[in-house]
Amino acid sequence: MRVGFGYDSHVFDEGRPLHLGGVLIPGAPGLRGHSDADVLIHAIVDALYGAAALGDIGSHFPDTDPRWANADSMQFLRAAVAEVRAAGYSVGNMDATVICERPKLRPHVDAIRARLAEVLGVDVSAVSVKAKTNEGMDAVGEGKGIAVHCVVLLLP
Ligand SMILES: [Zn+2]
Repeated sequence: MRVGFGYDSHVFDEGRPLHLGGVLIPGAPGLRGHSDADVLIHAIVDALYGAAALGDIGSHFPDTDPRWANADSMQFLRAAVAEVRAAGYSVGNMDATVICERPKLRPHVDAIRARLAEVLGVDVSAVSVKAKTNEGMDAVGEGKGIAVHCVVLLLP
């Protein structure tokens, strides 16, 4: 078994839509980034690559590459899942904590879990997405963006 840890953060960009875990969150400010800036998917991709010691999202999908401008981050996740499978692993479970003062994410959590489970190739019971605020502390607490921490377990 292998465990991987992922972290990502992006600042809000009011002019973009918010994609979180492959789900469009209506009425919420989006995030600044080269791709669609799906901060949750980026953290999961880093956890997958980390678990298999296959580098990180930046080494596979550099943000200087015009191919990834406004890219759907789901394609990064599909590629990472395929690479860890090629390395001989399958996903056991994933657990993520999404930290932001806004928007309220709890109403969207089950849709996000279902979407991620489909791409990770696991039952939805193996996918956890927890939402919390930073209690007003630091830049995330001041509402400047969203941060995500996540762990992934890979099985042989
Ligand atoms: Zn990112």
